[in-house]
Amino acid sequence: MNTVYIGLGSNLSDPEQQIKQALHAISAMPDSELVKTSSLYFSRPMGPQDQPDYMNAVAKLHTQLTPLSVLDHLQAIENKAGRIRKENRWGARVLDLDILLYDQELIENERLTVPHYGLKAREFVLIPLAEICDDLVLPDGDKIQTLASNIPANGLKIHSQLSYPLQMR
Ligand code: ATP
Ligand code: MG
Ligand code: MG
Repeated sequence: MNTVYIGLGSNLSDPEQQIKQALHAISAMPDSELVKTSSLYFSRPMGPQDQPDYMNAVAKLHTQLTPLSVLDHLQAIENKAGRIRKENRWGARVLDLDILLYDQELIENERLTVPHYGLKAREFVLIPLAEICDDLVLPDGDKIQTLASNIPANGLKIHSQLSYPLQMR
């Protein structure tokens, strides 16, 4: 059994509902169990500022799937939500599902970099991660609590709880 942390983000088409539906879809992934979700957070956009604020959360998954198979499933869920990949990176999106960590593995290939390359620089990832696993240690030995308490919050705030099982609208 492998433990995977997934970062979820949305800033279009009812972000709260997008994140809830994505968690529902993640919970239905084969050979996997959604074990924990963070609160749902409001965050400020990265990169282009002329776009709506984001909602973010982090989920903890137990899975027998390989890292690339997890990525395939997450991309299928993004596509089903209507994600259109554009040239401009960090532009507005209906749904973004990133693999933050896959156990303590270091993965570097054409499709996947794990731990996620932006993990340590993003408050909307570090703070929800620390919320659901306060004793987490990254493969390089850094403690999530230390990273989360040292990063500026940049306006990040809790919007609501996402207790599992989820309340679907
Ligand atoms: P960022 O990567 O800065 O968070 P993004 O999430 O908007 O930006 P995407 O368009 O979702 O970027 O993904 C671009 C590519 O990143 C994907 O096609 C995927 O193959 C690759 N990728 C590499 N590492 C990961 C990872 N850990 N999780 C998800 N996708 C990844
Ligand atoms: Mg991303
Ligand atoms: Mg992505």
